[in-house]
Amino acid sequence: MIIVNISGDIMPNTINTEHFWMPFTANRQFKAKPRMLVSASGMYYTSDDGRKILDGTAGLWCVNAGHGHPKITEAIAQQAATMDFAPLFQMGHPKVFQAASALVEIAPEGLNRVFFCNDGSEAVDSALKIALAYHRVRGDGLRTRLIGRERGYHGVGFGGIAVGGIAGNRKHFGPTLAGVDHLRHPLDIARNAFSRGLPEHGAEMADELEQRLITLHDPATVAAVIVEPIQGSTGVILPPKGYLQKLRAICDKYGILLIFDEVITGFGRLGTPFAADYFGVVPDMITCAKGLTNAAVPMGAVIVRQDIHDAFMAAAPENTIEFFHGYTYTGHPLASAAMLATMEVFKEEGMFDRAANMAPYFEEAAHSLKGLPYVKDVRNLGLVCGIELEGVPGKPTARAFDVFLKCFWDKNVLIRTTGDIIALSPPLIIEKQQIDALFAAIADVLKSQKAVPETHTVAA
Ligand code: PLP
Repeated sequence: MIIVNISGDIMPNTINTEHFWMPFTANRQFKAKPRMLVSASGMYYTSDDGRKILDGTAGLWCVNAGHGHPKITEAIAQQAATMDFAPLFQMGHPKVFQAASALVEIAPEGLNRVFFCNDGSEAVDSALKIALAYHRVRGDGLRTRLIGRERGYHGVGFGGIAVGGIAGNRKHFGPTLAGVDHLRHPLDIARNAFSRGLPEHGAEMADELEQRLITLHDPATVAAVIVEPIQGSTGVILPPKGYLQKLRAICDKYGILLIFDEVITGFGRLGTPFAADYFGVVPDMITCAKGLTNAAVPMGAVIVRQDIHDAFMAAAPENTIEFFHGYTYTGHPLASAAMLATMEVFKEEGMFDRAANMAPYFEEAAHSLKGLPYVKDVRNLGLVCGIELEGVPGKPTARAFDVFLKCFWDKNVLIRTTGDIIALSPPLIIEKQQIDALFAAIADVLKSQKAVPETHTVAA
């Protein structure tokens, strides 16, 4: 039952929460004291008890242009009124083609074919399938191995969890895909704590692709390596200087495809369209989602090197389907309209440059937390930052989650935590005084932290 007041507002704590099984949530704990957001504009959410909540996480790393951008909202409304849905299996609608061209306009050179899907998980599974099928259509069908990375997050599909490396996301789901191996992650707090920007140490971690995995499996069996340029969901692990360049060189040497999962790093997070641009390393495919439509309508995409696409066109007989893959909602008209408007907003408002210009201020504010109680490491790049905390012995996640709760309830600030790490990724429109407010809230909460906080998650 929902109770509304005389003005039509939903009244706090009157909603029956029992039926919705919440994703990646401690359901029992949440439902004991729900945290409800009811509207959003610019840098702020409004909670059901009427508080304005500063959004330190762009929703879930996705609302890059800020909430409720009128141009995007208007485009969606217009499209919904014009044509709600059109099938894209053997049919088309103009906006999806325009959307693909708009994406190619900001993609690294050479990546100019776009496969649309509905979210990051689908983008990853689509990219893995493209990689496997690409080798097959070229007559190199022995290449079936996929290599991901420990602590990598590539969504929740079976492909994504197979190449992903977060134990909690994998351990309940059986053997997932066969023939997958993992690089180690490059986080090395002992050598790189409190790095500003890219860590100095650890590029040699990329060498194990050649020295350990490729040697072990035979290069001729490896189809693709997939990595997030910055490992976001696991708590902001940055690539050491030179690391991604090394991965690229090794993949080139052995004819292995390199996939950058840019679901988080795409669309200005580092002050460039993609992390590939920031690092000067061009992968063979980019997976993206989230900021693609400013999260206003779900959409994902794989941006593919032209010759990979062309290999499919060349291999299939005339008048036959070249790639047996797709989703009912691939290139949905509402998503396509939202995406086109989002790309215009990014361009018109110079959003990526804006993020680049704000990054040094953000870095300074993030590192002001050094020396506060329980702060073990601060890592940052662009408008992303991870703050790793000393955990409570025997209660993993309890420390960071307590900070999250106190920020929300006492400071009106939304942060995100994973394990005992706070991950911040505000909308790119954030102003200096909002950066100050965000870090001041976290600092205040850290200063008042007890050795063992009274609140902690129900499930680790
Ligand atoms: N890949 C990366 C790097 C991500 O960070 C995420 C989500 O955070 C995904 C894939 C999955 O995206 P989605 O939740 O839209 O399926």
